[in-house]
Amino acid sequence: MASNGIPPVDFSKFFNVIDGKLESTEKTLRPLNPSTLEENPPVPLSTQQDVDRAVAAAKKAQEAWREVPWAERADILRKIGDAVAANLDELAKLVTKENGKPLMFAKIEMAAGADNFHKIANFTIPENVVDADPEHTVITRYTPIGVAVGIVPWNFPVALGTGKIAPALLTGNAIIIKPSPFTPYSALKIVEIAQPFLPPGVLQVLSGDDSLGPILTEHEGIDKISFTGSTATGKAVMRSASKTLKRVTLELGGNDPAIVCPDVDPAEVGPKLATFALLNSGQICVAIKRMYIHESVYDAVLKAMVDYVNTLKVGDGFEENVFLGPIANGPQFERVKNLLEDIQSTKLKIATGGTAAHNGSGKGYFVTPTIIDNPPEDSRIVADEPFAPIFPTLKWSDEADVIRRANDSIYGLGASVWTNDTTQAKRIASKLQAGNVWINEHANLSPTSAFGGHKHSGIGTEWGIEGVKGWCNTQTIYHKARP
Ligand code: NAD
Repeated sequence: MASNGIPPVDFSKFFNVIDGKLESTEKTLRPLNPSTLEENPPVPLSTQQDVDRAVAAAKKAQEAWREVPWAERADILRKIGDAVAANLDELAKLVTKENGKPLMFAKIEMAAGADNFHKIANFTIPENVVDADPEHTVITRYTPIGVAVGIVPWNFPVALGTGKIAPALLTGNAIIIKPSPFTPYSALKIVEIAQPFLPPGVLQVLSGDDSLGPILTEHEGIDKISFTGSTATGKAVMRSASKTLKRVTLELGGNDPAIVCPDVDPAEVGPKLATFALLNSGQICVAIKRMYIHESVYDAVLKAMVDYVNTLKVGDGFEENVFLGPIANGPQFERVKNLLEDIQSTKLKIATGGTAAHNGSGKGYFVTPTIIDNPPEDSRIVADEPFAPIFPTLKWSDEADVIRRANDSIYGLGASVWTNDTTQAKRIASKLQAGNVWINEHANLSPTSAFGGHKHSGIGTEWGIEGVKGWCNTQTIYHKARP
């Protein structure tokens, strides 16, 4: 044990955690660092047998864990949060190596990961007396679901993974984390770091390839899937989970509109708008993906954004002052190149950027930040989720029409309104069809607020008290007094 009571951690080797033990597998995976295209260290390639053993361990562990008092489980979460925070710098380096994001943003994500444990630990769900008279009392309470699986994407492997672990454990479930095959390192280490504070089997992690997700969603011993990822995969998860009536929470893709009103100061909002579109190289489910700017300020806002975007440094996340790291992995890079080709071939007007290029060393999945000037509403860059540092700006003149255009999407994850006019802001915000609506900001999330999508952006919510309840079964107890 180190002097602060937190055990030292070896950051050079990576293991599954099954029933409290660190395990390797016969075959391994070697995901690439997207900045250098060098192989990161080997990670386990889990099999059906690994899944079966983890599920059996989880089932046994959960029966005892659900009996541990809520306050004790909350204290354990706080200790895990402390241990994650104590290893923040090394964990952040893992995130930069696996995902490419600049180290300063990886550190922010790690801090958010520790915060998830500390803040979610403060939730309680008291029993609710819904009806009471001398003869009859009716109480609603919340009980654990059982064995859960958290399926995590590659864009925010820590913030999203810990955002599943903390509420699952608080509510008395056991959970198995399945990270993305592209970003397993931070998840494997966080689950390892948490082990000394937990009974074996309560929190486990399995790394693997594309075949692992379906093995988990099909498994009869699993009671709940919390999935974050693309809408297409979310639908496959729901189909698969339906066979055993697993509970599902789906946090899926988005195509967030921002509506910029005529009274804004272009020099002030331009850089902010571009930042919320380009953070994490645009690979955020709630990045601004369609920017509707009032025609009276369109040229000025676009110019302010272009000037700002041209100052942003693209490069390896370990270099100083880099704002945009690479696209996080090869398949996503191919999708982004294909989108750029579509932009070129359909002759859309590029205000800045427009190239996918390796860096000076000839390696890395780098794309220059790109703004597309007023493309048609049905172009791919407007209609699809790009998940890239590329976004369109569009003109509007009529408020009702821009609200219609903003809502004209299968997605409904986030949306924002930018204006100093509070009445207009609230009027527009109340009409937007999205799970998360911001005024004069975007993508500002907290583990204390419910987060979820409307329409094809998801089912259910995570975080906030609603999210915590999503890890529970609702139980009503009807108590008739004896005469
Ligand atoms: P993805 O759907 O390809 O993969 C997500 C996870 O699902 C990975 O762990 C993957 O290995 C696993 N998986 C793949 N096929 C599976 C299957 N058949 N069954 C079960 N699991 C399977 O998504 P991605 O490319 O990793 O992430 C990008 C997408 O995630 C974007 O669409 C983005 O908008 C979305 N996203 C949503 C949120 C949100 O909270 N709503 C947050 C982050 C990302």
